[in-house]
Amino acid sequence: MTITKKAVIIGGGLGGLSAAISLRAADYEVTILEKNQHLGGKLHEVKLGDASFDFGPNTITMPHVFQNVLNDAGLNPDDYFTFSRLDSHTKNVFADGSSLMFHSDKDRMIQELANFDDESALRYPAYLKETEKLYTLANTHFFHRTFSSWRDYLSVPLAKGTMMARPLETLDHFHRKFFKDERIVSAFNRYATYIGSSPFLTPATFGLIGHLEMSQGVFYANGGNHTISDGFAKACKDLGIIVHTGCEVISSTIQNGAIQEVLTQDGNTFSGDAFVLNGDLLTQSERILGEHGSAHMTNKPEPSVSAFVVMASVNTRFDLHHHQVFFGQDPSLEFDQLFRKHSFGEDPTIYICTSSKSDPAVSPSGDNLFILLNAPPLQADLSLSEHPDETKKRIYKILSEKKISIEDHLITDQVVGQLDIAKRFHAYRGALYGLSSNRQRDTFLRPFNKSASVSNLYFAGGSTHPGGGSPMVVLSGKNVANLIVTNHSQIKRT
Ligand SMILES: Cc1cc2nc3c(=O)[nH]c(=O)nc-3n(C[C@H](O)[C@H](O)[C@H](O)COP(=O)(O)OP(=O)(O)OC[C@H]3O[C@@H](n4cnc5c(N)ncnc54)[C@H](O)[C@@H]3O)c2cc1C
Repeated sequence: MTITKKAVIIGGGLGGLSAAISLRAADYEVTILEKNQHLGGKLHEVKLGDASFDFGPNTITMPHVFQNVLNDAGLNPDDYFTFSRLDSHTKNVFADGSSLMFHSDKDRMIQELANFDDESALRYPAYLKETEKLYTLANTHFFHRTFSSWRDYLSVPLAKGTMMARPLETLDHFHRKFFKDERIVSAFNRYATYIGSSPFLTPATFGLIGHLEMSQGVFYANGGNHTISDGFAKACKDLGIIVHTGCEVISSTIQNGAIQEVLTQDGNTFSGDAFVLNGDLLTQSERILGEHGSAHMTNKPEPSVSAFVVMASVNTRFDLHHHQVFFGQDPSLEFDQLFRKHSFGEDPTIYICTSSKSDPAVSPSGDNLFILLNAPPLQADLSLSEHPDETKKRIYKILSEKKISIEDHLITDQVVGQLDIAKRFHAYRGALYGLSSNRQRDTFLRPFNKSASVSNLYFAGGSTHPGGGSPMVVLSGKNVANLIVTNHSQIKRT
């Protein structure tokens, strides 16, 4: 007789949902415990009047990663969410008023770069080749596997792959080999922020993001990116996964080196054969595991950037692209201010996602502006360097100078700052992506996917392998589910 194994997932973010669906597909009885009222974690819908906003991931790459989770569970992804490719996806506007459109089409991109300088245009095909190589290396050696102990690093192909992935070169240095014009370099350097890091520190390995955007493409989930979370939540229901929202795990009972049960704030207990912590392990590991949790903490963890977000619903359609970036006078200085001085840039880069440009139905009365400023992570005492109202005013002033006069057209707005992000998701110092990838060790040696001190505890999500960003955390959940199934089948055999 086969006995059904039970898995408990702590946290219903994208990483937790992916682990839950993958374990259910392997016949586990799965329970998700999520502290908030919604599933999806950082990716969820915010409604302001009739305008819908995607909180969290606005730029979606690697749609196959989301689809594969459902495919592998025997579901048709198209029944849950669909994607459109945005060919001309991001308009970069510089302080001097010039602009550079990013296209996922080589020839159009070469033309675009030639408007700035011929040499950059000439070198673009070589850039695409190099970034493809970086992507292939990461996809071969990192994306589809877990790391459970130092032994997992003892592999000659992995060591070779890591060295070929340019770990010792910075992303900024990598970009300067292909692009001469300072504005072009700034536009590509912004990719470092996709992993919450600085291009002057993070390894050139992340040049692979260029391959994702420029070759594979940037995608939008029709009806809003939150339909990905909603689709995963529906899949959980269809597969019979038990979901408890508004259910925060606060501690655990550990016996013989294994979790017997976890306790939730409302006094319930949940037992299982395997537990997956999808909540940020930098804040939740010690809290839930007590003294067993300290084994998972890295030395002096450096959080990724946080964000200051204003969602503004307006009664007009501005002249904005779906993804638009307004750069300040000196984007390099901004990284120094964010990472060394822990303050907002004085003349910050402002990103605006206006999904109503591609999909007007999501905001029928006017545009839905999701305005994001890279923000310094909170100090250890969670103090803020600037009052949120001041930051919002500053953003509106800068944008009105660029003819985006939000206050003249405002229906309603909502601010979500670093402190909100820290509190809502238990995110370490408000970090969007767990650890930053500014140090090589935090890029390649992130906290393991399996606990060293508790035998049936696993980790999935941005704070572990392979890293932050929506496709990566979904891979993380799937990889961890595979590891659990493999470990249980090995125990059965012995
Ligand atoms: C403003 C913003 C912009 C972003 N932009 C992009 C983008 O453009 N593209 C991209 O790919 N990514 C982007 N990201 C990052 C992306 O959202 C994250 O990498 C990803 O969603 C994280 O998923 P996760 O499962 O690791 O964690 P989370 O989404 O944080 O999920 C963890 C869940 O665990 C729950 N939890 C924590 N502790 C407990 C507990 N004790 N008990 C029960 N539940 C608990 C939390 O409530 C949360 O729901 C952005 C994020 C933000 C906030």
